Amino acid sequence: MDLIIGAGITGLSYAAYTNNDYIVIEKDDQVGGYCRTIKQDGFVWDYSGHFFHFQDQAIKNLIFSGINADDVLTVTKRTQIKYKDRLVDYPFQKNIHQLPQQEFIDCLYDLFQNPVKDYSTFKQMLYAKFGKSIAEKFLIPYNQKLYACDLDTLDVDAMGRFFPFADKEDIIANFKTNPATSYNATFLYPKGGAMEYVHSLCRHVDMSKVCLREYITHIDLQAHVATTNKRQIHYDNLISTMPFPALLTLTATPFDKSLYTCNKVLVFNIGFDRKGLEVNNNWIYYPESKYIFYRVGFYDNIFQKDRLSVYVEIGYKEDQPIDYEYAFQRTLHDMQLAGITTPQHRVVSHNTLLMNPAYVHITKQMEQDRARKMEQLGNSDVFSIGRYGSWIYCSIEDNIKQSKNLASQLSR
Ligand SMILES: Cc1cc2nc3c(=O)[nH]c(=O)nc-3n(C[C@H](O)[C@H](O)[C@H](O)COP(=O)(O)OP(=O)(O)OC[C@H]3O[C@@H](n4cnc5c(N)ncnc54)[C@H](O)[C@@H]3O)c2cc1C
Repeated sequence: MDLIIGAGITGLSYAAYTNNDYIVIEKDDQVGGYCRTIKQDGFVWDYSGHFFHFQDQAIKNLIFSGINADDVLTVTKRTQIKYKDRLVDYPFQKNIHQLPQQEFIDCLYDLFQNPVKDYSTFKQMLYAKFGKSIAEKFLIPYNQKLYACDLDTLDVDAMGRFFPFADKEDIIANFKTNPATSYNATFLYPKGGAMEYVHSLCRHVDMSKVCLREYITHIDLQAHVATTNKRQIHYDNLISTMPFPALLTLTATPFDKSLYTCNKVLVFNIGFDRKGLEVNNNWIYYPESKYIFYRVGFYDNIFQKDRLSVYVEIGYKEDQPIDYEYAFQRTLHDMQLAGITTPQHRVVSHNTLLMNPAYVHITKQMEQDRARKMEQLGNSDVFSIGRYGSWIYCSIEDNIKQSKNLASQLSR
């Protein structure tokens, strides 16, 4: 029997793909993990912005199997950066020609003035590949706000394929691209929110085997026995999607905690009584420190609604105390400062979420340690997968692929 810990996208997709008998243990009172939706006072909000690009047709078929095609929006992606008094198209590095002339010249000059060939940190890579001006005007302040850490502590590939790389030729070519054609990327979004994907996935899972409000408190690797708050469970394989450091703790595997760090993201979903001033973008990036948030997303522009409905994301160090009331009042203040709302806008509904962990800090040392520990656990039939189980940066499509591969490897 396979014991699956966690009923997020990863745990549920493993259950959907495996031929083995299984049980899913989920500590929360609902399935979905971070892929969940809140419906409140006529507003539809996810656990922060969750938008999907599925490349793999089989995965797309699985995830859409329970959703009516009419209930999924194909949304043209429109994202910009609030840079000083203007909005610049994203990604910044490809749109420096939209800056004031002197700043454009600085960025262009520095782009071609980068003698550094050797770099070993994320921050050094930003300087080396894009030059001082692009790095310091957007890439460093924005990512520092998001990751809530010194970017010199992160690996060059900290963001993997999610970092929008552009070489000099791309950047120059983009100067003459018609904005209408450069905006051709789209994403999918169910009208009922990201949770619709989870409901769809659940149709392929035996839900009588999903146990909510139950959590793992100890794992005996030798005996293949997991203890929960309710019972002891004997397993053949244990598939864990809980954060990797938590698994190491529950299996009594000694580890260096300082290697496994991450940020946490405070999310405010806020509904207002009227349309906001931003009627075009799906989301906007805010690199400047005068704004408490690093990103604000506009559900009302995605759903074409007439009341402003936003998600606001604020990055913190994982152990940093949060003053929620201060953060909320600062958010409302900074939304006016950023030109999103006016003093006349009234909040009619809101909710607060803390995503912890949110973005894990990737370093070479951590990756080496993680690979050794994964191998060690694998020898005891314990497999740690998912965004936090693998302690990586990835999308839900990656989570489903990983589950599918492991299920086929372990299926008897
Ligand atoms: C701010 C933010 C924005 C994102 N936006 C996107 C996006 O636009 N598109 C996209 O594709 N992806 C996005 N992601 C990534 C996406 O959310 C994750 O890849 C995905 O939800 C991870 O699913 P999971 O099942 O691996 O983990 P989780 O969703 O974390 O599920 C793990 C489950 O394990 C349970 N659990 C933990 N410990 C225990 C225990 N001891 N016992 C029992 N159960 C336990 C938890 O309650 C949880 O339900 C975003 C992530 C963040 C943080």
